[in-house]
Amino acid sequence: MSRVWNFSAGPAALPQAVLERAQSEMLDWNGSGASVMEQSHRGKRFIQMAAQAEATLRELIGIPADYAVLFLQGGATQQFAQIPMNLAGEGDSADYIVSGHWSAKAVSEAAPYVRANVAASGAADDYLKLPARDTWRLDPHAAYVHYTPNETIHGVEFHDIPEVGAVPLVADMSSNILSEPLDITRFGLVYAGAQKNIGPSGLVVMVIRRDLLQRAGRPMARIFRYAEQAANDSMLNTPNTWGWYVAGLTFQWLQAQGGLAVMAERNQAKAGLLYRTIDSSGGYYRNPIEPSARSRMNVRFTLHDSALDAAFLEESEAAGLLALKGHKALGGMRASLYNAVPPEAVDALVAFMQDFAQRHG
Ligand code: PMP
Repeated sequence: MSRVWNFSAGPAALPQAVLERAQSEMLDWNGSGASVMEQSHRGKRFIQMAAQAEATLRELIGIPADYAVLFLQGGATQQFAQIPMNLAGEGDSADYIVSGHWSAKAVSEAAPYVRANVAASGAADDYLKLPARDTWRLDPHAAYVHYTPNETIHGVEFHDIPEVGAVPLVADMSSNILSEPLDITRFGLVYAGAQKNIGPSGLVVMVIRRDLLQRAGRPMARIFRYAEQAANDSMLNTPNTWGWYVAGLTFQWLQAQGGLAVMAERNQAKAGLLYRTIDSSGGYYRNPIEPSARSRMNVRFTLHDSALDAAFLEESEAAGLLALKGHKALGGMRASLYNAVPPEAVDALVAFMQDFAQRHG
């Protein structure tokens, strides 16, 4: 059994070095004689590891002291609801930019807690391009503006941070966090489910400007309140200890790679190669997204004849290329190229695609 090149959209590939480190520490973590999963989150060892993970993340991104970092549970989907609970008061509205499946879901999950106003939408364009900034109808009194910088299913990505004035900008970065340098000061709140660029599922990493913790929000249990989590180092109850630990290892790995600027260069090169291969295939492969909105993380493509899809998937898997099937809502193929997918994986994919096109011309 050998490792394959893994293009899964999420849960997704983790850096091999992270998995090997976790494996080597599985039975005896940090000289404790037990795995990290088998120890109290109140113990000195865990608290130290948790603080170190946060410190490494702060260093990687450059997160200033007026932002809190939270390690939460419930997935990004739970945050779709928890964000309005925390940031919007009774009767408030919030603006949502809808650019694909996940930002649309953010609206529907927020609706019980806030007047969720769709300020712009790419639905009429089938989400093949981003709604142009000058068409956004933003309300200067909105509690926040929510958008999804990278749409994992539709394969569209914002390559600039939108200017939204004084209203706090909230971003679901589940599928592109840590893929490039991030100017966190442009945001009120950034959150990400861990299972793409950070670690195992069941963990959400959130960076929130501390003044937003003062908002009363809606009546809710303590467990949902960001201010309570921040005041308790995200340990109001038992956190996802394993997820936190693996996230810490990933942050260290990113540092060892040279940081986010290095990852950005690598990610740009990987996606560039794949898009060039698609665009130069004479229509054999096709990516429908407007070039300026193409995602570096999730590359969609179709074959010129969908009758070849089954053969493509079967042969690619046999060639050691895992999880290229597109999302069921859109069909076709999708290659996810997160940080842990090395350039060699994309080289192998591109070689396979060219060979397949020749053999099935
Ligand atoms: N937002 C985005 C951009 C996603 O890609 C996903 C998951 N693929 C989610 C939200 C939902 O995440 P979760 O399953 O952790 O709730």
